[in-house]
Amino acid sequence: MQRAVGRGRAVAPEGETAPARAWDGRVHPVRDQEDRIDRAVRVVRDAAEARERGAVRDDGPSGPDGMDELSSLRLRLERMTALDKLKSDFMNLTTHELRSPLAIVYGYLSMMESGMLGDLATELREAVTSSIQSVELMMQLVTELVEMARLDETRLDPTRDPVDLTGVVAEAAVRVETSDRHRLHLDLGAGPAPVLGDRGQLLRVFANIIDNAIKYSPSGGEIGVRMRRAGRQVAVDIRDQGLGIAPSDMDRLFTRFGRIVTAATEGIGGTGLGLYLCRELVRRLGGDVTATSVEGEGSTFTVQLPAAPAGARARLTS
Ligand code: ADP
Repeated sequence: MQRAVGRGRAVAPEGETAPARAWDGRVHPVRDQEDRIDRAVRVVRDAAEARERGAVRDDGPSGPDGMDELSSLRLRLERMTALDKLKSDFMNLTTHELRSPLAIVYGYLSMMESGMLGDLATELREAVTSSIQSVELMMQLVTELVEMARLDETRLDPTRDPVDLTGVVAEAAVRVETSDRHRLHLDLGAGPAPVLGDRGQLLRVFANIIDNAIKYSPSGGEIGVRMRRAGRQVAVDIRDQGLGIAPSDMDRLFTRFGRIVTAATEGIGGTGLGLYLCRELVRRLGGDVTATSVEGEGSTFTVQLPAAPAGARARLTS
């Protein structure tokens, strides 16, 4: 639709001393049923107020107070930066304050479950076990929120230490809890696979994706982890034979709090932050995390990272 945009200044009626106001006017054509323009509506807004709300694009200096578009944008940027800092401080404070009490509750519940504090009746034991699962989920959420805040802080400058990805993937596979329904099969190839990054963060990326492969394969099956060295890239495929993901849900996989809740997954706990964090982290190192899936048959998640330059091998940590 075509729009005419006008700009002007409303002058106070004679005798009144109110300051003149700048206005922005837009003409919106109104069409009849045959799509012919038969009327036009003019919408006039207070320019300062509209600019404040970001509703009007200003092409040059305007307004009675002489504030041009640049200073208005600068002001908004400053406000947004201050708000962003406030949000980060709030997140840091609350997440750190939540950690200690959660750890204490978790400790006591674990002692109760193990029988250290005396025998428990069956109903009480079940209640304790389910409380432990909820506290574990809260602890995971807190950890991921801390991780998210940390990612924001290091947005422009991620750690880039030389790290051997084979050691990281092998350790991640040992860390995750498997059940006797799952078979974990590792094929990491020969020799080291040096990349640049933060070892602890990379460990969490792989532990998270392997853990998901197990979690979303409730009937069991094989979890295959295969490393490929392709030119200047290192890629790791994590393949499961689990629930899979519907094509319509694929674009929500890596979004913040992007849980996909279906009849099959509603009993499976999670925060919806894991994959978002994994991809953000890997992307900041110049790589990517992608997924393919067939609903009902399983999924493959691929983590791909640039191989470290030859000089970095000498400083490699496994
Ligand atoms: P969550 O904490 O919910 O597991 P993630 O960010 O790790 O959060 O994953 C987001 C969503 O993606 C999950 O809720 C789940 O529905 C889906 N998902 C992740 N991994 C798999 C997988 N291997 N198989 C099927 N669905 C998966």
